[in-house]
Amino acid sequence: MTRKQKKTLARILVSAVLLAAAWASPLEGIWRLAAFLVPYLIIGWDVLWKAIRNILHGQVFDENFLMALATVGALVLGDYPEATGVMLFYQVGELFQSYAVGRSRRSIAALMDIRPDYANIRRDGQLVQVDPEEVAVGDTIVVQPGEKIPLDGVVLSGESTLDTAALTGESMPRQALPGSEVISGCVNLSGLLEVQVTKEFGQSTVSKILDLVENATAKKAKAENFITRFARWYTPAVVIAAAALALIPSLVVGGWQIWLERALIFLVISCPCALVISVPLSFFGGIGGASRCGILVKGGNYLEALTRSDIVVFDKTGTLTKGVFAVSDIRPQPGFSKDQLLETAALAESYSNHPISQSLRAAWQGQIDTARVGQVQEIAGQGLLATVDGGRVAAGNARLMEGMGLSPAACDQPGTVVHLALEGQYMGYILISDQVKPDAADAIAALKQQGVRKTVMLTGDNQATGEAVAAQLGLDEVHTQLLPADKVERVEQLLGQCKAGRHLVFVGDGVNDAPVLSRADIGIAMGAMGSDAAIEAADIVLMDDSPAKIGTALSIARKTMRIVHQNIVFALGVKGLFLLMGAFGAANMWEAVFADVGVAVIAILNATRALNISEFQPKKNTK
Ligand code: ADP
Ligand code: MG
Repeated sequence: MTRKQKKTLARILVSAVLLAAAWASPLEGIWRLAAFLVPYLIIGWDVLWKAIRNILHGQVFDENFLMALATVGALVLGDYPEATGVMLFYQVGELFQSYAVGRSRRSIAALMDIRPDYANIRRDGQLVQVDPEEVAVGDTIVVQPGEKIPLDGVVLSGESTLDTAALTGESMPRQALPGSEVISGCVNLSGLLEVQVTKEFGQSTVSKILDLVENATAKKAKAENFITRFARWYTPAVVIAAAALALIPSLVVGGWQIWLERALIFLVISCPCALVISVPLSFFGGIGGASRCGILVKGGNYLEALTRSDIVVFDKTGTLTKGVFAVSDIRPQPGFSKDQLLETAALAESYSNHPISQSLRAAWQGQIDTARVGQVQEIAGQGLLATVDGGRVAAGNARLMEGMGLSPAACDQPGTVVHLALEGQYMGYILISDQVKPDAADAIAALKQQGVRKTVMLTGDNQATGEAVAAQLGLDEVHTQLLPADKVERVEQLLGQCKAGRHLVFVGDGVNDAPVLSRADIGIAMGAMGSDAAIEAADIVLMDDSPAKIGTALSIARKTMRIVHQNIVFALGVKGLFLLMGAFGAANMWEAVFADVGVAVIAILNATRALNISEFQPKKNTK
């Protein structure tokens, strides 16, 4: 508990004792009022004060006003115990709320406990701890076993395993070897690592993620906006209704005191706190629960939208397939050797971070001297041009070759073809093949089960490969040989096919699909460990690259919305019932306050369920 909460608790206890004492005392008249006023003011002064302050600021109608009006009215009518009791239970409810909100905030903070406190730098042979913000790009930091990696970088020396659970929700540790990229926020488990920093702290993965999570609650879902609007109209409406209830029947049938009392009960019951607090709290819990699974959702609105997904569109390379290509064949034209082809490709591709480039570099086992390469120009969806040893090299698909007026050899084997040309002369091709991710087929089947009507794959790869992958995974539709701009066009067509009020989701790996990510209703980027463009363009970011997480995101969204709807229906239902009962004299002030606090407590408890994700996590296998 915070200090403020402890103080409220103390006030509650003191005023409860004083209330009991006043009740038991034989005091009469003005002394009786005085005896009740002490606990009433102890417990209610802040509510009264807030109500007065709001009136002075012209914002009359809120729950403080309702409570102040109802209890002061009860005092005027001589219902002293009721007036004090209502205030007391109202504060019990408030305390409970602030406790619940604090708890989910803390558990989000704890699960996002990835902010590094320091970085180790070697100075005069000694390790010194410095603020991560002071470390510059190119500096070398030392990460000891057990420490968090403070900044993104590349391992210079040392071998270790990294715990990425805080970022991805996956418990499998990753290996880090010299040359591997490491991401801030991971925990170094076993060995000492020397890391060369590649991004300053403000640009690091950790900072980006923290920003994202902190800003997520600013993007309100429709259900949340509805509640805010609702509260704005509801309170004045209730006050007017209560005034009418106090006035009209007493003018018609008389007995103004009974009607005034009923009107006050009406006010107590009507307090909208349960809704106002529990709906945002549910979204907050849903976003927090998702980030515990390694799914970063940029706002409650996206959770809400996810539950109405109609078409899910996938990119192929790196999204449904591993993006790790193995060379399966090399076919040089006469006059060139296989080695020559592979070396040229590896060199030309040496600056690109496209999955194809990385694979070709890995396939060429020799040293890559980047000084031999210059003037690299990437052509998204086709390949690239570069100067290698002074000669103009083109590496890419058939479209790229045809654009240069060359006629590339046809290839009848399945796989992705990288054609090569040197100084306008066709050199031959390298056939590379990718593998489908092991959980991709299940992930797509799961989406279908969750009510997704259509699954589509868009790829810049050739028809044979695209169709083979689509068939293997059970996708409904596939479009091949698309340039990035064609993908946007396709997505626009598909947007038109979505059922009214339903949404299109695009899932990509973040390599040249930022335009589509932002064009779709919901853009999901995966494998965000390190890719900034993806984190920025997407609405939902999957920290690792497992397609199964899309289904998890959908389930979390569904659960969150279910809780939100339960709370809205439950709170409004109980309130409506008690309002009627109050108006007809079937509920007294005590029942009214129990109804109000009870509904709030139940709704809040229900909302905190959204934070619980055990049902979405893979069962730990006990080996
Ligand atoms: P996808 O749509 O499958 O994600 P891309 O749009 O990134 O693929 O690329 C489409 C096609 O363009 C690839 O299948 C490949 O033939 C070619 N291509 C793209 N980038 C490169 C590259 N760096 N080197 C060689 N070929 C490339
Ligand atoms: Mg791609």
